[in-house]
Amino acid sequence: MKGKMKAQVFYEAEKMKLEEVPIPEVTDVDVLIKIKNVGICGSDISYYYGLSPLGTATGKGPLILGHEFTGEVVEVGKVPEAMGLYKPGDRVVVNPVQNCNACIPCAKGHTHLCENLIVPGVSVDGAFAEYCSSRYTGLFKLPDKVSYAAGAFTEPFACVVNAIRKLDIEPGDFVAIFGPGAMGMMMVQLCKSVGAGRIALIGATNDDWRLEQGKKFGADYIFNVTDKNSKYYTADLKKEISDLTDGHLADRAIVPTSSNAAFEQAVEVSGNCSIIVHFGLPNADDVFKIPALSFHTMDKQIRSAWLAPLSWATAIKAIGEGLVNVEPILTGTYPLEKLEEAIKLLRTNPGEQLKIQIKVS
Ligand SMILES: [Zn+2]
Ligand SMILES: [Zn+2]
Repeated sequence: MKGKMKAQVFYEAEKMKLEEVPIPEVTDVDVLIKIKNVGICGSDISYYYGLSPLGTATGKGPLILGHEFTGEVVEVGKVPEAMGLYKPGDRVVVNPVQNCNACIPCAKGHTHLCENLIVPGVSVDGAFAEYCSSRYTGLFKLPDKVSYAAGAFTEPFACVVNAIRKLDIEPGDFVAIFGPGAMGMMMVQLCKSVGAGRIALIGATNDDWRLEQGKKFGADYIFNVTDKNSKYYTADLKKEISDLTDGHLADRAIVPTSSNAAFEQAVEVSGNCSIIVHFGLPNADDVFKIPALSFHTMDKQIRSAWLAPLSWATAIKAIGEGLVNVEPILTGTYPLEKLEEAIKLLRTNPGEQLKIQIKVS
């Protein structure tokens, strides 16, 4: 499709411009999508403030960000057309982590570690625009009953599916979740769906509103570990969890925040043969400090959960079946013109925000 479109082009830290740019070209293996909803991810905020390098060759812009998106097919490349896969008008959601299916990691199912990965919104132009082109292998049809807004939670929720799989929850397990953001809210719900017993949701600083949201999604206990004025404040989380578990501590813990302190605390409050999953993306120079003897003799396991390999089919089904209710996590919807405003709000005053989406059309 020839022509121009509106797009938010990111140049460098805190510099983004709404511009008219050419509509992306569709190669033989691509599909062109008219963008509907795009979630603002924590990583978009990091890129915007220059805290993380982009996935481009130089690590820098210009680049159109935005990787959590839904839309409508408007043009189909030769290969997916010959295969009869998509037609204009199809409602789709895009897995932005687009692997090649032709390298050794892909052959092992480690699709997130593909040697030829492209990621719209991170390494190539993404979805804070009227149109985005995507490899056909990244597309999934959106179930009829899933709205474009709910569908745009599939990417973060697929990461949650992958992480909760790694948590290997046994029926009735006591689970500690560190981080009352959008990810934490989805984790609370999925942990309950797959058989967790009681769940403690733990947050830092002015998180009380978010912590309280966690209760609505199924958390049994909420704790604020930093704000002394909070009615949920505790100075000794380990003792609280010990008291709640007859001294056994948490069976499982997961950390959907990039805070190193939270991860160390997750290891501290976990008991014998526990599994602790690291989820939030750390900063480049972060180093964990974990007491070695108790880690060893309590037979704890630490696992990382990076991206969402082989998790998309499950994520789409779980959202479609209502196993996780994502729409109440959406606390703000902005037009494309107000992307920077929304990013700044999430960064400076996230108190009563969980997820903000840009509604392009
Ligand atoms: Zn994301
Ligand atoms: Zn590959």
